[in-house]
Amino acid sequence: MEISMIKSFRNRLYPLVGGFALSVFVTLTVYFTGGTTNVYTNLMYVPIALISSIYGFKWGLIHAAISGLLVGPLMPKDVVAGTSQSLANWIIRIATYVAIAFIIGVFSDIAHKREQRVSHLITHDSDTGLKNYEALRSDKTLSEHPVTVISIAVTDYQEYLGFFGYDFFQKIVDEFSKQLTDILRMFPQAELYRYYGMEFAVKVNHEDDSANTESMLSAIGELNEKTLTVLNLPVYVEFRIGIATTAPEEALMDGVRRSLVALRSAIRNNVRMVRYTNDMEVLIKSSVSIANSFREALERGNIRSAYQTIHDSGNGRTVGMELLARWVRDDDTKIPPDVFVPVLEKTELIHDLTEFMFERALSLSKNPEYKDMYISVNFSSSDFNERSILEIVRKAKEYGVNPDRIHIEITERVLLSVANMRSHLDFLSRHGFIIAIDDFGTGYSSYGIISDFPIDVIKIDRSLILKATTTKGFGLVESIVSFCKKFGMITIAEGVETRELADICEELGIDHQQGYFYSKPDFFPIMPKL
Ligand code: C2E
Ligand code: CA
Ligand code: CA
Repeated sequence: MEISMIKSFRNRLYPLVGGFALSVFVTLTVYFTGGTTNVYTNLMYVPIALISSIYGFKWGLIHAAISGLLVGPLMPKDVVAGTSQSLANWIIRIATYVAIAFIIGVFSDIAHKREQRVSHLITHDSDTGLKNYEALRSDKTLSEHPVTVISIAVTDYQEYLGFFGYDFFQKIVDEFSKQLTDILRMFPQAELYRYYGMEFAVKVNHEDDSANTESMLSAIGELNEKTLTVLNLPVYVEFRIGIATTAPEEALMDGVRRSLVALRSAIRNNVRMVRYTNDMEVLIKSSVSIANSFREALERGNIRSAYQTIHDSGNGRTVGMELLARWVRDDDTKIPPDVFVPVLEKTELIHDLTEFMFERALSLSKNPEYKDMYISVNFSSSDFNERSILEIVRKAKEYGVNPDRIHIEITERVLLSVANMRSHLDFLSRHGFIIAIDDFGTGYSSYGIISDFPIDVIKIDRSLILKATTTKGFGLVESIVSFCKKFGMITIAEGVETRELADICEELGIDHQQGYFYSKPDFFPIMPKL
């Protein structure tokens, strides 16, 4: 029998009752078979072994002593003849029972203690002594009341580790968990857990005392403004919170999982606290399904490239086009790029999309119909590494396309998020590709940063272009344009929807324009051969 099974019996009463009943049964058997001259007294070893192995030393001794008395002084040697046992006989019998119960009971207690220690180790964090994730996972009780799970994560805690080293980091963890423990002392229905690192959870069992939970949340929230004192040094920790509440009778882990989803959303959106909503789950499910079905969609021809023309501000002539990805399902429904591109960007799949769009651009550039136009392709962070940029140059050669026909569009975010971006862009630029900054005005928009990279084109974001109708906005765009002119960069206005905007852009001296006023993105009338 496994120790854990014995352990679970130990918390129940029926084996104890059963053991005593068995002893009584043995006593009656001994009595009705004529007394202790017969062999039946040996049956008593069964309940003795049972009770002492399950309940350990203490109950083992009590039970053995009682059993000994039952078949000892109280039991005749021969019922019919009416002779009683000798004193030595029953004393030795009781002593044997007690000794057996003692030996088995002691070993059972040792095993039980070891079991408890192991399960404590598994379900507790050795650094802080708090319960851990495993404790939450193995908690299978279905509470009849709602349970709220609050997940707390100190952001960038790895940085503390990197800056201060492990020992100091450990002190920060201790201090932070101590502060949380102090707060939770006032809320007896709450229990603190540590997931790992500086991620914690609070489980709140409640019978609709949500007001209490709110005051706990605000008390925890106040920690965000506090500096911790660790080895006499003030340390500032900032954390995010995700909250989810289970329905009555729902598994605790569902609450844990949801609160973690809410926590990731808080971290991603840089807000202090996020409560779980069903939309988050839908979003996750659809992200997973997008990532799973993208390659197949690409192979089946469901990923297509649309194009939107770009025009000269002065004479309106078409000077270029931007390729925009489209996902058209078999039933003709569409997934917008705003939805699938960010998902692909979280995986390496974005590279497959860029490759596909880039090859489209190369083959379109060979089409005589578009010979006077440049073709813009959107690139993402993971498209920039040594291997990929070599591949870009190689492909252009293979197609026999002059790289200056191709605009590589990247946002400021991409510009700053890639290591060695400068050398990657220098490489592409030296090979003749045109580098364009997309959505300019939505990111850092620092002239200093821009002038540090080999940038040829600035695409001014729609939000800035829309503002150009006001005096202040006009001034802002004017200064961007004059900066670009000074550095020999071409400017493109994005999102030009009306003639009024088109005129303002011309007045501002913006070189090219793109937007619904000129054309909406469309599929190519005749798909040119690849
Ligand atoms: P973007 O690169 O800024 O592309 C321009 C977006 O603005 C396009 O949205 C276009 O349809 C829209 N647009 C053009 N003119 C106007 C206008 O006058 N008014 C308004 N309101 N919108 C206009 P779309 O095609 O939905 O693409 C959205 C975004 O998805 C793109 O923004 C780009 O960031 C991304 N994307 C699209 N295709 C690709 C791709 O092949 N690769 C990558 N990495 N991203 C792509
Ligand atoms: Ca773009
Ligand atoms: Ca854009």
